[in-house]
Amino acid sequence: MSQSVTVIGLGPMGQAMAAAYLDRGYEVTLWNRTPSRADALVARGAKLAETPAQALAANELVILSLIDYDAMYTAFAGAEHALAGRVLVNLSSDVPEKARAAARWVEGLGGTHLTGGVLSPPPGIGSPDMSTFYSGPREAYEKYRADLEVITGQTDYRGEDQGRAALMYQLNMVIFWPAMLAYWQAVALADAHGISASEIAPYASGNYAGMGQFIDFYAPRIDAGNHAGDVDRISMGVASMEHVVHTNADAGVDTAFPQAVLDAFRKGAEAGHGADSFSRLVELIRKGA
Ligand code: NDP
Repeated sequence: MSQSVTVIGLGPMGQAMAAAYLDRGYEVTLWNRTPSRADALVARGAKLAETPAQALAANELVILSLIDYDAMYTAFAGAEHALAGRVLVNLSSDVPEKARAAARWVEGLGGTHLTGGVLSPPPGIGSPDMSTFYSGPREAYEKYRADLEVITGQTDYRGEDQGRAALMYQLNMVIFWPAMLAYWQAVALADAHGISASEIAPYASGNYAGMGQFIDFYAPRIDAGNHAGDVDRISMGVASMEHVVHTNADAGVDTAFPQAVLDAFRKGAEAGHGADSFSRLVELIRKGA
């Protein structure tokens, strides 16, 4: 346990992280490109470093929460020497290969890099129920594990590959963003018929809450290569998605998103898999067909 930490990057996430450390009695040193974002935290006792180099010098444990990995190179330009001996826990999200390249860069400068992927919005930071993926050197993860549990109570270490935590985070985003877009589509269609977002909220919530059952049903079948059309069929999916596209079009609502789903189903049918489960689409997507 360190009791002293540097947080670099004060967007909504970095601010919430710094606040969580202050709540736990840590000495917190901050740096942000726009210094005014530190005002409320400084009022609570955090120290604002004048330069990134000073922020790095203040603590061995440095939490980084920037918009992406490129911002790290911009932020640390001219401060590279100060990375020696630091443990940089990079909670900025980006692609796995950029995480690996950043780790090589930090290690080349004498520091240690741990990649993180936070599965929590800002209000969940500090909660015991939220979780963060980590990957990179196990020794650094174990050494600072208790400090990292201040950010989210649960930590999920995924091994030495620096890209793995970023990949696990991206897998979640692949699901999250389109799932939310599907909801926005339903809200827009409802609105076109004078139905409010609040009125459909319980039905939308119920729909998403039930998704876990589908995942649990399909995952072992997919792993076993079983795409039998005993429960659903791609041909049924094509017909259903045509209804969805037409219902949206009839209401004058943008159809780009449901049309993309329909196109994927049609590809499956045209490839001769109309009688198979729509889980067969995994194989077609995987091949880039
Ligand atoms: P942003 O993604 O908007 O990141 C803002 C931070 O990046 C600010 O500190 C900003 O500085 C800094 N920044 C941007 N460009 C540069 C640059 N060129 N040089 C230096 N600093 C730069 O805010 P969030 O806090 O929401 O997100 C931080 C990270 O956490 C992101 O990678 C995001 O994907 C991830 N994340 C966010 C979640 C969320 O719900 N918000 C949930 C899970 C992960 P300045 O203040 O000066 O603009």
